[in-house]
Amino acid sequence: MLNIVIFGAPGAGKGTQADLLAEKYDLLHISTGDLLRQEVAKGSPLGQRAQAIMNRGDLVGDDIVVQLLAQALRGVAGGEGQEPSEYRGCIVDGFPRTVAQAQTLEFLFSKLRLSIDAIIAIDVPRDELVRRIHERAAISGRADDTEEVIRHRIELYDEQTRPVLDYYRVSGRLVTVDGSEQIADTNTRICKVMDVLLRGGKR
Ligand code: AMP
Repeated sequence: MLNIVIFGAPGAGKGTQADLLAEKYDLLHISTGDLLRQEVAKGSPLGQRAQAIMNRGDLVGDDIVVQLLAQALRGVAGGEGQEPSEYRGCIVDGFPRTVAQAQTLEFLFSKLRLSIDAIIAIDVPRDELVRRIHERAAISGRADDTEEVIRHRIELYDEQTRPVLDYYRVSGRLVTVDGSEQIADTNTRICKVMDVLLRGGKR
């Protein structure tokens, strides 16, 4: 089993890379952003609470996000009374966004007798992030993809999410990959890391 966190600033391409990896390596792709957007689309009480916060580009409360994540993680563990999982592991995208969430993630995994094998951080220079954001704002239908909101999301990333890198760096599980070029280039780099992890080797 291989459990990965994919990490990066808004516009780094986490979701795109996570989709490609999930398909190639048979991993369950758990995106907290997607889980939240599904709740918003359903109009559930939880989605109604999250919607305005997401539209502003702020972080949704841990009570909501952790509940959705915990439920999704049961899909990879198989869980009591459930069929064994059909996946070879999972790829978590969009979580953790704070050091407190990183600690919660360790706890959730340990409760399921699982562990996080690596954190793959996609590194994209600020200029390139801004360029991609302009592009994405023009074509994405997401309410939180206006330029102003994306800039706010990048600020929040710098303040609250970037420190998560240090949290994982000290545990020796952080791998940083250059994400400044095309999707396929980044994918090739990440797949090299994945192949080493799957062989059980050190990076
Ligand atoms: P994403 O699709 O990962 O860019 O997430 C879209 C939005 O969902 C974020 O801007 C937040 O409002 C919310 N969100 C996603 N993941 C989290 C998280 N781990 N903690 C708090 N809010 C989150």
